[in-house]
Amino acid sequence: MSGDQRTKDSAEGSSRSGGDHQQPQPAPLSRYESQKRRDWNTFGQYLKNQRPPVSLSQCNCNHVLDFLRYLDQFGKTKVHLHGCVFFGQPDPPAPCTCPLRQAWGSLDALIGRLRAAFEEHGGSAETNPFGNGAIRDHNIGQMELDFQNGKCWMCSFCFSTYYIARFSPCR
Ligand SMILES: [Zn+2]
Repeated sequence: MSGDQRTKDSAEGSSRSGGDHQQPQPAPLSRYESQKRRDWNTFGQYLKNQRPPVSLSQCNCNHVLDFLRYLDQFGKTKVHLHGCVFFGQPDPPAPCTCPLRQAWGSLDALIGRLRAAFEEHGGSAETNPFGNGAIRDHNIGQMELDFQNGKCWMCSFCFSTYYIARFSPCR
């Protein structure tokens, strides 16, 4: 009967609210999974902070592109603009006012995680904004900027990106 179910639920609820330290610990997430969860929360928070807030079903590739540009302010890769005297130098000898942004490789990995998370949260693969061609074009643009700035090599075996300053051969 439903009475049984209710007793069970409330018993569970009371042990939880009683701060019981016998509460089973969830299995630890892999590094990829916890990073994915963190990225997804950041993206959800970003959508919520829009005016007006954007729901997941309204979210399209323009929101994703804005999100990627928003993330650039937290980036650590210096991108010299064409007018800068250090343009093309991976390790400039003096500071300049060119912007920082996310490295292409980390953006690419981020998009991959968010693309998977979107579908895990009920989004459809057909309308997945992270799979949109505009996002891929944006990323290719970022990669080209890195190349123009002498920032990276792409390994032709594993396609990972190396910074010249600490270039190490691919195994
Ligand atoms: Zn510069």
